[in-house]
Amino acid sequence: VVDGGGDGRLERLVLRDRRSGDEETVEAHGLFLMIGAQPLTDWLPADVERDAQGFVLTGADVSDGRAWPTDRSRLLLETSMPGVFAVGDVRHDSVKRVASAVGEGSIAIQLLHQLLGAEDGRVRSGNPSRDRP
Ligand SMILES: Cc1cc2nc3c(=O)[nH]c(=O)nc-3n(C[C@H](O)[C@H](O)[C@H](O)COP(=O)(O)OP(=O)(O)OC[C@H]3O[C@@H](n4cnc5c(N)ncnc54)[C@H](O)[C@@H]3O)c2cc1C
Repeated sequence: VVDGGGDGRLERLVLRDRRSGDEETVEAHGLFLMIGAQPLTDWLPADVERDAQGFVLTGADVSDGRAWPTDRSRLLLETSMPGVFAVGDVRHDSVKRVASAVGEGSIAIQLLHQLLGAEDGRVRSGNPSRDRP
């Protein structure tokens, strides 16, 4: 969309073909822009499995054939790389809403405490005042 106009309200849009550069004017009474839905995860190492669109696979969504170099099961929200979690929009099949991204973030913290507790031989509650060395 490169231009638009109308008399007191939207009536037309000018569209440009990104390959040919050709422009056409079309009748339009509304315009909805959906931006920001690209995961942009190319920088992640191949060890962190992603789907065809680049969203990060977690938990049961990670491929069965993936190497898993620990004795324990993969945790919910844990990626194909042990100890690395993914939450929010970047996660494959997530709900793509603010409330769910925030909720998944808080769950990931709890899972991290669980993981660290298992590694150092004690159970952490996630509440520092209750966790004693
Ligand atoms: C147009 C639009 C409208 C929406 N409307 C609603 C709505 O009405 N209600 C609703 O609940 N949700 C809405 N959403 C969805 C909502 O915005 C997302 O679900 C939510 O923001 C996800 O939070 P997040 O923390 O997972 O990701 P994000 O909010 O995208 O945060 C990820 C952050 O990581 C940063 N980042 C990315 N790569 C790197 C990197 N390599 N290094 C460092 N930082 C990096 C980004 O800059 C960004 O700040 C909308 C989304 C869009 C695109």
